[in-house]
Amino acid sequence: MEILKRAWAEVHLDRLRANVENYQNCLGSETGKTQLMCVVKADCYGHGSPACSLYLQEEAGIRWFAVSNLNEALELRESGITGEILILGYTPPEYAGVLSENNIIQAATDLKYAQELSACADNCAGKPVRVHIKLDTGMSRLGLRFSSPDEYCEQILSIASLENISAEGLFTHLSSADSMDSESVEFTKEQIKLFDSVCDKAQKLCPQLKERHFMNSAGGVFYNNSKATLARLGIIMYGLTPDRELKLPFELHPVMELKAVVSQVKYLEKGASVSYGRTFTAPGRIKTATVAAGYADGVPRLLSNKGEVLIGGKKAPIIGRVCMDQLIADVTGIDVRPGDVAVIIGSDGANTVTADDIAEKCSTIGYEIVCGITKRVPRVYLK
Ligand SMILES: *Cc1c(COP(=O)(O)O)cnc(C)c1O
Repeated sequence: MEILKRAWAEVHLDRLRANVENYQNCLGSETGKTQLMCVVKADCYGHGSPACSLYLQEEAGIRWFAVSNLNEALELRESGITGEILILGYTPPEYAGVLSENNIIQAATDLKYAQELSACADNCAGKPVRVHIKLDTGMSRLGLRFSSPDEYCEQILSIASLENISAEGLFTHLSSADSMDSESVEFTKEQIKLFDSVCDKAQKLCPQLKERHFMNSAGGVFYNNSKATLARLGIIMYGLTPDRELKLPFELHPVMELKAVVSQVKYLEKGASVSYGRTFTAPGRIKTATVAAGYADGVPRLLSNKGEVLIGGKKAPIIGRVCMDQLIADVTGIDVRPGDVAVIIGSDGANTVTADDIAEKCSTIGYEIVCGITKRVPRVYLK
């Protein structure tokens, strides 16, 4: 391991593949034709791109990738991703030429934006800009939004007929596919129904709109639909659940483990205070381990006096405030020496702390925890 042994993230690529395979099986033999579009935005949700993306292409046979922006797309191209790349978010129209030169597909979110792309593509006399047209069916974020399928179709056809634009697909995004309460289920079904009726119509009139996709991780598990040519797989691929309450029909394998070394071990007498602001006071004689990771590494400060790390296979409560580069754990009764490894996310012996466990303590979601592991934490890739 050619890294500084301070704080690091171990990324288990074999687990990435296992999650992809489980999801693929879940999409089902019944459809068979739905391909995976792996969502590798935000540095593969903090797991490290291009390494994870390349692994998906080379070892898991993935041919479709989705990112949030042009920089992420170009980084993939430069690192050797030859499959299709869709930008889900905004690209300023003046980059039309860069999109077409690099064979990157852009989300077209309304007619005006598509017209601007078309005009810019004309100026740089490049190949047409490939787009998938985004329909807003209830997320109220990006995409065409109308009250009837006919109006959607009219706009779709206007976009598809623009010069310098090659419209190749339609997609939408589900807002609540990971909630199982009846209102959310009803809402999701309505989104899918609207999407289906618009797609059925538009694809008849405009067969070049070959691709159609609406499933995110949760959508693929609970609303699988054989008309979709692609499913956009994000969080589940990384081994986390879209929602803590959600029960999935297969096992998830968390891909990332976050570890750091114990830099010092000491005893504190009763009454000694710990860390900034003295928010913890030793209730008696305790043994502490100082661990070399803090909020600048992505360990949330909200874990102060709340979280726990695993040391020697045992749970060691975080005491006092999490600092920028360090935290302090109560290791009373645990056999530990400086240089030993503390597991912040991951398993040690019989115990496990998941990003979802941490998220719960911080009133957020696992997505934010893994995306928050910072750049200075080296990623170590294990097969
Ligand atoms: C991020 C994103 C996804 C992936 O969502 P997961 O819940 O991680 O599966 C899919 N589609 C769009 C448009 C996204 O922005």
